This record gives sequence, C-alpha cells and structure tokens, in this order.
Amino acid sequence: MTPLVSLRRIQKSYQLPGLEVPVLHGIDLDFRPGEFTALVGASGSGKSTLMNILGFLDRPTSGEHLFRGRDVSRLADVEESRIRNREIGFVYQSFNLLPRATALENVALPLFYREDIRDPQGLAAAALERVGLSNRTTHRPNELSGGQRQRVAIARALVGNPSLILADEPTGALDSRTGAEILDLFRDIHRQGATILIVTHDRGIASLCDRSIEMRDGSIVSDTLP
Ligand code: ADP
Ligand code: MG
Repeated sequence: MTPLVSLRRIQKSYQLPGLEVPVLHGIDLDFRPGEFTALVGASGSGKSTLMNILGFLDRPTSGEHLFRGRDVSRLADVEESRIRNREIGFVYQSFNLLPRATALENVALPLFYREDIRDPQGLAAAALERVGLSNRTTHRPNELSGGQRQRVAIARALVGNPSLILADEPTGALDSRTGAEILDLFRDIHRQGATILIVTHDRGIASLCDRSIEMRDGSIVSDTLP
C-alpha cells in the first residue's frame, strides 16, 4: 500500500537573529492509511516541530515530504492550504475553540472554505453525535467541561473527513480519567477508519496505540510497528 505520508532525511532548523537552531536531524518515517500511532519523547525533543511539518503548517529546512506520493515542497501555497484544510484534522492540548461560537459553529468552521459541501450544519451535527455531544450543540466552550471541549475539538477535526488526524498532547490539559476517555474516543474513530498520530509524553497512552515512535533530541530512537 502506498504510504499516506513519507518523510525522508527531514531536517529542520529555526532561524533566530544571528543563530541557527537545529531541531530535527534527518527524520525518516512512513505512515500508512489506517495507522494509529503515538509519538513520544521528552519536552523539547522536536515532536511539535515534526507535527507542524506533517500538518503543512511549517516546512522542513531540507529533506523530502511526500503526501499521497506528491512532493509537498513543490506545491503552491494555495494547493498546500487546500490539502491542509481537506486532508488534515488538528487537535491541540488547549482545544483552540472560538469562545463566542457554539459547539456546532466551532465544528462547522473548517467547512467554511469547502465549496463542495452542501450542508455544513448537518455534517457538524453528525460529527458532534460521533463524539457523544448531540445534546450540547448550542453550548459555548465556557459552558462545557474540559473533556467536552476536547470532544468538540475532535468533532471539528473529523468533520471534513480528513485522511490524517494530528493530535498534539490532546490529553495534556485533562485529568487522567478524562484523558483516558478521550483516548477511547480516538480508538473508536481509528476503528472507523481514521489515520491518527497522537503526540504524548504519557507512556500509558502511548501503549494503547498500535505503533509507538520515540524521539530524542530531534532524532527517532525507536519505532515499534504494529
Ligand atoms: P516538543 O514538542 O517535543 O516539546 P518542539 O518541537 O516544540 O518540541 O521544540 C523542539 C526544539 O525547538 C526546542 O528546543 C525549542 O526550543 C525549539 N523551537 C521550537 N519552536 C521554535 C521556534 N519557533 N523558534 C526557535 N526555536 C524553536
Ligand atoms: Mg510540543
């Protein structure tokens, strides 16, 4: 099966005034459709930097990033944004919901730029149902618990039916029981066919994923395949 994503010799340096900070030192990785993977490593090891590259939010300094066999470095900016919007769903530690918008409006947001979608409200309602929040569609984020906010964020990541869901420390702001419930939800979504990459520093959570990749100081030091 063709990988969904291939990274080859990916290097990333951040350019600070008068200083280049090397962060990723030659990452080689493939993700196949349907994989459920944890990315673990100490703070500062480069996990978010790698996620940002995988999510088309940042570009590597060198190396090759293929998405569905296409060289991402050759894509024009509009095409890159289009792929990001349609193919990638993002979930963050701090939820990143719009405070004044309802749950339904937050979930429908990524569909705003999709001229091919007829019924964004209906799709948003269906996504909220998938995460168990049918009865909270008109609530605003401050009327929801942390776990419910993260469910809204997961619904927003799912709503456009992306081919890859990237979650950066999605349980990091939650108590351990709520975090376990959120992980269960990711497992359900994975069983329904989604390809998911979760960044976590919690080895308990990593052990519940099918594949676990460990980073240290900008390199991959282990990768246990399913
Ligand atoms: P992790 O997510 O594993 O904690 P990050 O990818 O956020 O790691 O950061 C890896 C390293 O890159 C850290 O040393 C961090 O200070 C540095 N870094 C991250 N973002 C930037 C940036 N925008 N500019 C400069 N250095 C950065
Ligand atoms: Mg990080």
